[in-house]
Amino acid sequence: MNRIVLLGPPACGKGTQCRNIVNLLGLTTLGTGAMLRREVESGSDLGTDLDKYLSAGNYVPDELIMTMVNNWLTAQNGNGWLLDGFPRTLAQAESLEANPTTQPTLAIGLDVPEFELEQRIANRRECASCDSTWTVSPGQSSECPSCGGELRSRSDDALDSFRVRYANYKEHTQPLFDYYAAKGKLLFINGSNSPEDVFASIKKFLTQ
Ligand code: AMP
Repeated sequence: MNRIVLLGPPACGKGTQCRNIVNLLGLTTLGTGAMLRREVESGSDLGTDLDKYLSAGNYVPDELIMTMVNNWLTAQNGNGWLLDGFPRTLAQAESLEANPTTQPTLAIGLDVPEFELEQRIANRRECASCDSTWTVSPGQSSECPSCGGELRSRSDDALDSFRVRYANYKEHTQPLFDYYAAKGKLLFINGSNSPEDVFASIKKFLTQ
């Protein structure tokens, strides 16, 4: 049974590797950032509340995200899954540990230095239809290579917002690398390599 969590700073390649792993292992997946952005776009009262956190680059409160993720996990009926962007705090990690059926079997930690992340953020686009994330080069079409939807920049990818998100990551999420390492569950990956090389390392581990 695979229950995998993917950890790493903003723009480290979590979205890309999530797609690769899901295709390799046939898992269902939840990207918490995409889930929250959908709620904001729905215009609901909850979405209006969430928007305050997301647009400033702040994490949403633990209780709120834990309830949303727990609802999703319950609906998986004990099947394997991959979580992209959860847990991000110690309280979130401990909420998964509290139930034997939600304890991760593996935590994949992608590490990329800050200067490289800033460059990537500037070229990052998200598909308005299927939520997938892509890196674009100048002059490239704004069509999603996966579904043909419209690629657009994320409002929280502005540099100011990125810096807040990165500071939150350093304070709250990076310590989870040690948390999972202490449990013998961490696969540490250098995310500076090309997406193909990063996936090759992950695949080697998952299929050995
Ligand atoms: P992402 O798309 O993973 O970069 O997430 C975008 C934003 O959603 C983050 O900057 C946070 O504001 C929020 N978010 C996503 N996942 C979580 C989480 N597990 N805990 C708190 N906030 C989250």
